[in-house]
Amino acid sequence: MARSMAEPIIVAEGIEKRYGRVVALENFSVEIEPGAIGLLGPNGAGKSTFIKTLLGLLRPDAGTGRVLGLDIRKDSYRIRQKIGFMPEDDAVIPRLSAVDSVAYAGRMIGMGSSDAYARAHEVLSYTGLEEARYRFVEDFSTGMKQRAKLAQAIVHDPALLFLDEPTAGLDPKGREEMLELIRDLSHNHGMSVFFSTHILPDIENLCDKVVVLHRGKFLAYGGIEDLRKGDESFLDVRVLGDAAAFRAALEKRGFRISLQEGMDFQLAAEAADGAARRILEAAVETGAQVRRLQSGRASLEDLFTRLVEG
Ligand code: ADP
Repeated sequence: MARSMAEPIIVAEGIEKRYGRVVALENFSVEIEPGAIGLLGPNGAGKSTFIKTLLGLLRPDAGTGRVLGLDIRKDSYRIRQKIGFMPEDDAVIPRLSAVDSVAYAGRMIGMGSSDAYARAHEVLSYTGLEEARYRFVEDFSTGMKQRAKLAQAIVHDPALLFLDEPTAGLDPKGREEMLELIRDLSHNHGMSVFFSTHILPDIENLCDKVVVLHRGKFLAYGGIEDLRKGDESFLDVRVLGDAAAFRAALEKRGFRISLQEGMDFQLAAEAADGAARRILEAAVETGAQVRRLQSGRASLEDLFTRLVEG
């Protein structure tokens, strides 16, 4: 049976966005298929700017894009009707109950009042806020506020959900609950999610694919496993002694050091040939003791660090 290629849900073509002299996005292009997608980058990388540009909340200085086939410059209202957006900042309206806030979010994108209220009750119970639904959102704990925000974002049962740092400020339990809801929406309700974070473990067990960005530039897009490939083997070396001298001795022997944290070194795979002997020579030369020497497989954490530093 022929499998049809899924239409991309998000397309960015050469997007550029500046705030005064700050270049927040630089010639950013990517094409993203449906599924659970992570948008990964350190703070200040441009994640929020990218999401807001896709949703028409910010206008790009150059470039263009499409969300669910709709033009981000011309069709932003229709995009916002079709997608859900959980922003990073709290946008709590004072003296409004959870059910009123969620229904209001539905009304804002064109739902009728009774429909919006019926759905508000449904999604609040889905996000675990059934009993709190008549309380003011401003009195909620951070975790409850985040779940109320999620309820607002899914009131109209969108096909695609954008989440900007949904786990920010949550304690471990709140974080796990939030991740579980996102996982359920994606895996059991057929919703595509596009989820920004600077915390790698957030997306490791949840997302099929990841977009990595750094300083406004596109770095990588692919399956988490695919991104690991080609980067699989390396040598982990830990020494006791003069790390700087040891590093110099390694470099003199042609090693490429992909990572150094104090006494811990990670050497690139191509150095593996006869590597152990040359590492020991370097140790002897500098009076360092080799406390660990093993080959390993890059974790996404290492990969992320290397992508960002490289
Ligand atoms: P992230 O979401 O990855 O943390 P942002 O998109 O918020 O990154 O920010 C990208 C860059 O643009 C940062 O250097 C940030 O300081 C800057 N920036 C974001 N918003 C504004 C703004 N309204 N005015 C000026 N600079 C901004």
